[in-house]
Amino acid sequence: MRAFTITGPGSGEVRDVPIPVPGPGEALIKVSFAGICGTDYHLFGGDLPTTYPLVSGHEFSGTVAALGADARAWRIGDRVAVDPTLYCGHCYHCLRRQANHCDEWGAIGDSRPGGLAEYATVPIRNMYRVEDHEGLDEAALTEPLACVVWGVERLRVRPSDRVLIFGAGPMGLLMTQMLDRSQAADIVVVDTKAAKLKIARDVGASATFEAGPEVEERLIERSRGRRFDVVVDCTGVPSVIESLFSFAGPNARILLFGVAPPSARISISPFDVFKQDWEILGSQAINYTFQQARDLFAAGRISAAPLISRVAGLSEVPAILARPKADSELKTLIDPSVE
Ligand SMILES: [Zn+2]
Ligand SMILES: [Zn+2]
Repeated sequence: MRAFTITGPGSGEVRDVPIPVPGPGEALIKVSFAGICGTDYHLFGGDLPTTYPLVSGHEFSGTVAALGADARAWRIGDRVAVDPTLYCGHCYHCLRRQANHCDEWGAIGDSRPGGLAEYATVPIRNMYRVEDHEGLDEAALTEPLACVVWGVERLRVRPSDRVLIFGAGPMGLLMTQMLDRSQAADIVVVDTKAAKLKIARDVGASATFEAGPEVEERLIERSRGRRFDVVVDCTGVPSVIESLFSFAGPNARILLFGVAPPSARISISPFDVFKQDWEILGSQAINYTFQQARDLFAAGRISAAPLISRVAGLSEVPAILARPKADSELKTLIDPSVE
């Protein structure tokens, strides 16, 4: 089979490798679609510790092609989305329902081969059913939505909250949809790209603003000088994160959802945190939220289609990861059956 393989920092190629054999409690998945994510860029760029060679890809869907021993609940041909999260289930954190902090935390597509290949083996515990009426392209984005569901659980949106989101990339657009379907009264989205803001309006934003010198004034105006109850960063850009505190009103919940570089530092006023009753929240990956994401897609409550920029073949992956993302590009899906 063909598998996109990162061979070292900054280099990767599509290799011919044997089709893996599922072990006990595992299934062989024929990959239908795999999303390319910021993490794949980081793994390719060598910014994250990993072991090479690595078949990356942690957002994928497919059909069951073979079953190992003890995989009785599944049948050949079943349609699935794969939760890449690997956790042990018995360490201190797993026992406290903090599986995203498991002592042995890992991910399919990072600590074991992932979905940027024709086939991948996965533990059956990581497989989630995709219903017949659903597209496997959309199902490939269950992983990012599951991350958003965890972030939204952290936020505890209250009736009539006024929400401000920075960043209208794939994560910002899923976050916009989730918060639009909540009890929020206003969903405002800021990004540097007008094309992305148009999509944000299409999927539920009540107002959008292009980042620039006037944006601060416009946002204060939009909130009638009261600032916002919920402020979410979906950019991971330290200067943006530093600036968003000035839009947080009393009792605001401030969610740092975008992944900033590990070495980044920002300056905030502890007095403001005290005085404003702020809650500053993080949100790391998925914490038993994959089924919720599946349910939201299956019910048609959240739509991935507007986020999918294009579908490409495996052979394009090295070139895609070697250049920065284009301005207009949201999510690129890889279909390994495409030459
Ligand atoms: Zn991802
Ligand atoms: Zn654990």
